Amino acid sequence: MTYTITLIPGDGIGPEVTNATVRVLEATGIKFKWEKAIAGQEAQDKYGTPLPNDLLDSIRKNKIALKGPITTPIGTGFRSANVALRKALDLYVCLRPCKSYQGAPYIHENVDVIVVRENTEDLYLGIECGRNTPEAEKLAVLIEENGNWVNADSSFSIKAISPSATRRIAEYAFDYAKAHDRKKVTVVHKANILKETDGLFLSITTEVAKDYPDIEFESHMVDSMCSQLVRSPQLHDVMVMPNLYGDIVSELCAGLIGGLGLAPGANIGNDISVFEPTHGSAPKYAGQNKVNPMAMMLSGVLMLRHLGEIETADWVENAIAQVIAEGKYVTYDMKADRNDPTAVGTSQVADAVIEKIKELSYAK
Ligand code: NAD
Repeated sequence: MTYTITLIPGDGIGPEVTNATVRVLEATGIKFKWEKAIAGQEAQDKYGTPLPNDLLDSIRKNKIALKGPITTPIGTGFRSANVALRKALDLYVCLRPCKSYQGAPYIHENVDVIVVRENTEDLYLGIECGRNTPEAEKLAVLIEENGNWVNADSSFSIKAISPSATRRIAEYAFDYAKAHDRKKVTVVHKANILKETDGLFLSITTEVAKDYPDIEFESHMVDSMCSQLVRSPQLHDVMVMPNLYGDIVSELCAGLIGGLGLAPGANIGNDISVFEPTHGSAPKYAGQNKVNPMAMMLSGVLMLRHLGEIETADWVENAIAQVIAEGKYVTYDMKADRNDPTAVGTSQVADAVIEKIKELSYAK
């Protein structure tokens, strides 16, 4: 059987980590047909949009994509192609596992947490109005009319949380915990301050928890959660949270396990999934054969599991884990000293993982 996958190499370091990952996935012997598509600035220049219809059509047809990071211009230019892609395909789950592998430069060993980030609403709706615009002035007046007060020259970004989006992400988190033999789900919020939005997220998740009596449920405020994660991440298991906290907490967790070079991810909808690492396009390292491709490779492992290729997924994950444990063919970010001259490049890591895949297949 051949799997047809939409492949979005992205920009910055994207093409290098994507190429390394494609080589590793092909080394398993599974047959893939890659349908390449472009997004971001390259697509903007070529088609006048950062998210061309051809790309969306290809993902809708194949139901699955492997994606490298895409740069978002800061302050000006187009809005995030990454956020727009999740929105366009209703990829409402952002699943970000963080695990400390032996030999990685982690802060804590035995970390194995899953961040389940709501992917479609919260402050990422992109509803904003800049200061001194007619919209912002109207909003300031409306706020005043309702008995509140803001500075007249304020800018606004709207945070919205709905029961329907909360219910489906909460159900996903509990279903995931059940299917993967996880013991606990923690909802992360700031409901003491954001009584309406986070209060709703908390109350709906608490309601959903009642349908899963076998799974322990607890709630934590995002600030205390961050402090606890830094001190005792082993206390945590599956965590579900609104979009912005999910973005921040997943990078915190990546830091705990040894950095962004080791943190994979997936954006999941009802029937479409897009696999991509947590990290961005790290433009300053683009084209240098320098960065760690393992986060992207581990996103490929998540993709294999999603395809039902469980044994192969375990095989590739083991190969990556062994390359990390041996510490010989790893990139600069995996070394105690980032200037360690023994660090290898992106493509050499792919060579080492492929060698390990072969070795492990002989040992089977
Ligand atoms: P980043 O994740 O690209 O890089 C931050 C730092 O993390 C890098 O300078 C590097 O030190 C380290 N790093 C990241 N990936 C690494 C890897 N594979 N190996 C080793 N070290 C790695 O974050 P940023 O600099 O804030 O963002 C750069 C661009 O990427 C921005 O335009 C941002 O919007 C975009 N971005 C895209 C996505 C996505 O496509 N899903 C996600 C996050 C950020």
